Amino acid sequence: MGLHLSAGGHLANQRRLLSDFMQLEYLLAEARTAFEQHYGQAPRWIAGAPGRVNLIGEHTDYNDGYVFPMALERYTVVLGVPRHDPRVRIISLADPHPLEVSLDKPLEPRSKGFWGNYPLGVMAGFLERGYRVPGLNLLIHSSVPLGGGVSSSAALEVAMATLLEAAMAVRLEPVEKALLCQQAEHRYAGMPCGIMDQFIAVLAQPGHALLLDCRSRCFQQVPMLDSDVTVLVINTQVRHTLTGSEYPTRRRQCEEAARIMKLPALRDATLADLESARSRLDPTVYRRARHVIGEIQRTLEAAEAFRDGNWLRAGELMYASHASLRDDYEVSCRELDVVVEAARAIGPDAGVYGCRMTGGGFGGCAVALVRTAAVSEVQQRLARAYWQQTGREAVMFVSRPGRGAWVIHGA
Ligand code: ADP
Ligand code: MG
Repeated sequence: MGLHLSAGGHLANQRRLLSDFMQLEYLLAEARTAFEQHYGQAPRWIAGAPGRVNLIGEHTDYNDGYVFPMALERYTVVLGVPRHDPRVRIISLADPHPLEVSLDKPLEPRSKGFWGNYPLGVMAGFLERGYRVPGLNLLIHSSVPLGGGVSSSAALEVAMATLLEAAMAVRLEPVEKALLCQQAEHRYAGMPCGIMDQFIAVLAQPGHALLLDCRSRCFQQVPMLDSDVTVLVINTQVRHTLTGSEYPTRRRQCEEAARIMKLPALRDATLADLESARSRLDPTVYRRARHVIGEIQRTLEAAEAFRDGNWLRAGELMYASHASLRDDYEVSCRELDVVVEAARAIGPDAGVYGCRMTGGGFGGCAVALVRTAAVSEVQQRLARAYWQQTGREAVMFVSRPGRGAWVIHGA
């Protein structure tokens, strides 16, 4: 187990904890002040839920495979007080338009892209399950970047669900709660997402990443207690809009490969199965399947490496994941490749163990595993390389594994 209790590591850990604590305290202080300004009283309940980054296991979820996300120390918080009428008002400090809902009528989704659809969908999920949602005045504030590929949407849904639990003095079973939130995103935001984001936002434990089986929904908390290692998220600040058919096409290609191999999903295939079927597969379909089958294997191996604190091995698997996404699955882009190559050029001796694109691809974020003591030096070097090669600024932040949803006040 890679738990180093050297004096230096311990001090660094204490400093880090202090600053995380202050970050959340700062977010809460701003949120409380805004709440009192808007509603003229202090909140009775406060709930929070984290954003996330997927460490490895990309495009495996819809193939019934494994994913390996980690909660970020970036949170969405929801503050609330009861109202005396059957209405819910929600203000987000990130958007000028509040959500106003009457609980007397069925809850219909509003216009596409409206942020209020997420909490609306969560309330609808509770009503559908027979809970009586009370009248509420709510306010939302967040340190999770919105639309930046670290799942501010699941953080919002899960924080909202947690606030409702507190306000109704009920507790959903955690998996049920994650599924309710996923359904909210499907039905009210029109986004057919997998289960990863809501599961990690509900289930995360501090100091642990989550190995999640997207078929059985079984999961394991994988300790990542070594405070000498930190996760660095690098946002390329680009999002290439291609034709929009990339995602459905990839899914179809995966289904085709499984069908030709006569298997329920690519989860059930080995690389040997794939090789024996190669002559029957279109060459592109073959490469897509090779990514998925290899990635599922890498994800399981990476979880072991994290558990063992074998950061060099974990890093190699991250680089291999990136190469496979770039060459076989073809969902990377130049900006992501520049970040990953710059990380590789820095190397483990100067503090970078591994790096890969994370999320669906074609832009968004990369994730790197970095020695905590080298974080600021690494950030500077990556920023410089990215700027020199793309003329763009990368936005970065570091995180250790954060915590899952909780009632911060008023439990
Ligand atoms: P991601 O989940 O990667 O951040 P999404 O497009 O899935 O990106 O979700 C982003 C959307 O979620 C935002 O455009 C907004 O509608 C909604 N959202 C998330 N957090 C908040 C928030 N704190 N306040 C208002 N809307 C939010
Ligand atoms: Mg999202």
